[in-house]
Amino acid sequence: MDDSYKPLDPRLDVSTFASRSGYPSPIETRPSAPPIYMTTAFDMEGVDGFDAVCAGETKGFFYTRDGNPNHESFGRDVAFLEGFPHGVAAASGMGALVAALFGILKTGDHIVAARELYGRTVQFLETLKTQFGFGVTYVPVGDLAAVKAALRPETRLALVETVSNPLVDVCDLAGWKEALGAVPLVVDNTFATPCLVKPREFGSEIVWHSASKYLNGHGDVMLGVVVCEPNFYLAIKNAASLFGANANPLGCWMASRGLRTLPLRMDRISRTAEDLAGRLAVHPQVTKVFYPGLKTHSSYEIARRIMPRGFGGMLSFEIDGGRERVNKIFLRLNDAIPFSPTLADARTTVSYPAGVSHKFVPEADRLKSGITDGVIRLSVGLESAEDLYRELDAALRL
Ligand SMILES: *Cc1c(COP(=O)(O)O)cnc(C)c1O
Repeated sequence: MDDSYKPLDPRLDVSTFASRSGYPSPIETRPSAPPIYMTTAFDMEGVDGFDAVCAGETKGFFYTRDGNPNHESFGRDVAFLEGFPHGVAAASGMGALVAALFGILKTGDHIVAARELYGRTVQFLETLKTQFGFGVTYVPVGDLAAVKAALRPETRLALVETVSNPLVDVCDLAGWKEALGAVPLVVDNTFATPCLVKPREFGSEIVWHSASKYLNGHGDVMLGVVVCEPNFYLAIKNAASLFGANANPLGCWMASRGLRTLPLRMDRISRTAEDLAGRLAVHPQVTKVFYPGLKTHSSYEIARRIMPRGFGGMLSFEIDGGRERVNKIFLRLNDAIPFSPTLADARTTVSYPAGVSHKFVPEADRLKSGITDGVIRLSVGLESAEDLYRELDAALRL
């Protein structure tokens, strides 16, 4: 037995001993990997000690809803990668959005939002509008004149995504910022990640992620994160704990582990996606490919300007035959490339925008935006491009 353990008081009852078990004795050597602080709270050195931690005079934590070493390191690391001074981990991407918006908005405020935003983000904005008295105006992401025209005296922020789903439109972030003036630009950078685009370089003040996607990158965590300028930090951090949108330590620990390989993964999937996009574009069974690295994509010029390191791993393509044929292709692909209503796993996955992300969008609106019944979205993973192409080709020839 390790002799650094304090000798046990032999008078302790088994119940007392059991309820106090599991605490390691202090060690001088640092663990090579960070520990997971699976704790609800932190023991305090008296009432004065609690006050000192609350006031920030003693470096520490008191209650995990309000802060935990794993939250802090994940938030700090994403902030560093994005080039921001502060980061707040949240329970999910939606938790991050809730913390950011409730942290800085009040009833009556107006939001300008890109029309192409993630479906749940739009649903959240609609809830703010109908239940909480906010104003929301949607504009096409590529229409800067419409952004300017949408501004009102009570406009408090604007929401865009660096790269949209599923048609992978790339936002002219600098153009939006110029149109907005002093109104903060809040960017969902989930698809691009800071490896491909750092929105702060184009004037964004607040960036958020679904860390369930690329930041973690292994399809096994729900997590979000907001990074921001100092003037927003405390309000967003407080909102995350007040609204219960705080992260959990294990998720943060896992996503921190994911971050270590993020640049390698983004590089690899960008190269594979570019390769597949080029080959699918000339495939006889494919009528259209949406990938910002293709000259035929409406965002190609913007993408080339703001994504010099790669265009990411998301691409969509269209086939004839609609839902019925898509279903057959998915069943055929399922052994190799599963249909999974998520993205940014280490594995390549397919999804069906018309039936998943845009299931509840009115059909006419969906078709007008280009998401037809034959659009398949591919989230490219870490497999070999050759294997993926062979599997896709075989399924498409059905
Ligand atoms: C998944 C996703 C979200 C929501 O994140 P969750 O972690 O699922 O809550 C937000 N934005 C984009 C672009 C996403 O893909």
